Amino acid sequence: MRIILLGAPGAGKGTQAATLNEELNAPHIATGDLFRAALSQGTPLGLEAKSYMDRGELVPDNVTVRMLLERISQPDAADGYILDGFPRSLAQAEALDDALKSRNENIDKVLLVDVSEDELVRRLSGRWICRTCQKPFHVINNPPKKDGLCDVCDPEDGELYQRDDDKPETVRNRLGVYQDQTAPLIDYYTAQGILTSINGEQEIESVRADLLAALE
Ligand code: ADP
Ligand code: ADP
Ligand code: ZN
Repeated sequence: MRIILLGAPGAGKGTQAATLNEELNAPHIATGDLFRAALSQGTPLGLEAKSYMDRGELVPDNVTVRMLLERISQPDAADGYILDGFPRSLAQAEALDDALKSRNENIDKVLLVDVSEDELVRRLSGRWICRTCQKPFHVINNPPKKDGLCDVCDPEDGELYQRDDDKPETVRNRLGVYQDQTAPLIDYYTAQGILTSINGEQEIESVRADLLAALE
């Protein structure tokens, strides 16, 4: 199955994808994670993306689309994947549709994780992420078992950190960018008849159950 998780920054896409991938046996592909990995390796792609990410703006479509199409061409994505954070603009959605069409493939389902703006701000301001596996935690809503350490990784390399772009000023900018550039995708995929909206403002387990039910 080829699935898109759509939703604002902080809606819980990464949290859900991290367990859905096991359930569906499909890789979790997050363009934000790919950019951060490129940056930590100091590649030209990472350095180019950094200036946009620091401001909370979208990395240009051509760069992002090229990176994503390369990733979904890897062998582990041959039978499907869960996209998290892509597409984020109409141009990206159209480029993905074109590329899939040329391979006789299509997106099976778009799951919109719907969360109010006040709750998004609360979630992003308390978010801590594992440096190794990128799993998100939350100081109040979803704390790690041990302070500052990832539940799944080794104590040595599971250090949690706060993303620079989760600062309040940048968060406001990112939410504006979501409304302007990404929210139009809701109509785009509704028109294709493949979008299901899920109430993302429930316990993590209940959101997961609703997502799985929508995939049946
Ligand atoms: P996204 O990938 O959509 O930006 P994340 O999965 O990183 O969102 O979640 C943002 C923050 O909200 C994290 O700190 C995460 O622990 C927390 N979170 C995720 N889902 C829920 C939920 N259902 N209820 C409360 N907090 C949540
Ligand atoms: P979020 O928690 O907001 O969902 P992500 O990790 O998905 O954050 O994205 C972080 C940043 O990476 C974005 O603010 C943007 O600068 C860049 N980025 C990620 N995905 C895309 C995309 N599909 N198109 C353009 N920029 C992207
Ligand atoms: Zn980890």
